[in-house]
Amino acid sequence: MNKKIAVLTSGGDAPGMNACIRAVVRSGLKTGCDMYVVYDGYKGLVEGKIEQVDRNFVSDIINRGGTILRSARLPEFKEEAIQKMAIKQLKDFGIDSLIVIGGDGTYRGARDLSHRGINTVGIPGTIDNDIASTEYTIGFDTCCNTICECVDKIRDTTTSHQRCTFIEVMGNKCGDLALYSGVAEGVEMIITPDDPITDENVFNKLKSLKGGKKKHSLVIVSEKIYPNIFEFVKKVTQETGIETRAEILGHLQRGGSPTSKDRIEATRFGIAAVKAILDGETNICLGLRNGQIVRIGIDEALEMKRQTHPELLDAIKLVNR
Ligand code: ATP
Repeated sequence: MNKKIAVLTSGGDAPGMNACIRAVVRSGLKTGCDMYVVYDGYKGLVEGKIEQVDRNFVSDIINRGGTILRSARLPEFKEEAIQKMAIKQLKDFGIDSLIVIGGDGTYRGARDLSHRGINTVGIPGTIDNDIASTEYTIGFDTCCNTICECVDKIRDTTTSHQRCTFIEVMGNKCGDLALYSGVAEGVEMIITPDDPITDENVFNKLKSLKGGKKKHSLVIVSEKIYPNIFEFVKKVTQETGIETRAEILGHLQRGGSPTSKDRIEATRFGIAAVKAILDGETNICLGLRNGQIVRIGIDEALEMKRQTHPELLDAIKLVNR
């Protein structure tokens, strides 16, 4: 009997998830498995939104942002009774293996299902790059590029009016989106959880730029640093005498056609996940380490502490001081 494998996306959507779904489905079919998709993450799993698919189901999605399987959050998935409903739905289709694409929360759901007899493999998919067990998450590169495009546009008006603009970017509690896009844009300050900086130091740094030839400045800030960025920039204007504005990039950061890097990493992860299932693995997630795909136990992965890229961390310190 053919192995039956299902795939779902969960947590925040990320560009490249579709490329990953495509790789899972196509490589599963090629290796003789029956392939299934689950719509709406764990919520859809509990509700039985499961469908068997063929290779054409994933045609022409490699370039599309978002996830064709949609995503949903179901906090109740922590409960045993809800998990048992999900297992029943899988068993009704004869499915014994599940590949999940998402973040740490998604991994926790996969870990619990594995304890109840389903073979699970997690793939890191989130724009935030905030998963400790991997140096890269699907969607991060596209998101950085989107931020850079926006900052380029904001730069035009900031320069013309000789202002200072604070641009708040996503990242959850991880500073990577701010750090990478800030370095790529050569901004005047990068404010992230990696390099805590007092309000006083922010004012002083901006004041120190005032005397120079350049009469405008750009600052990239991670979300959740300032409870209200609009209030904070009012204070910056008062304290420095520099007209300062704020922009929150918001959900546009999640969208868009994935970059070639995201399509390629997503494809590698998708193929590797099917291979792991066929090798009999369960309760694992995949990660990139020195550019190579590795398998890590989910329990171990959830215990890991994130390391910020050391050279970029140095770069931030040079920028901010
Ligand atoms: P992102 O980083 O994009 O937020 P994520 O996977 O961490 O992605 P979450 O909302 O934390 O996103 O988790 C996705 C789903 O995983 C939740 O809606 C829930 O159904 C399930 N989940 C989260 N935490 C747990 C847990 N402790 N036990 C079982 N299932 C969980």
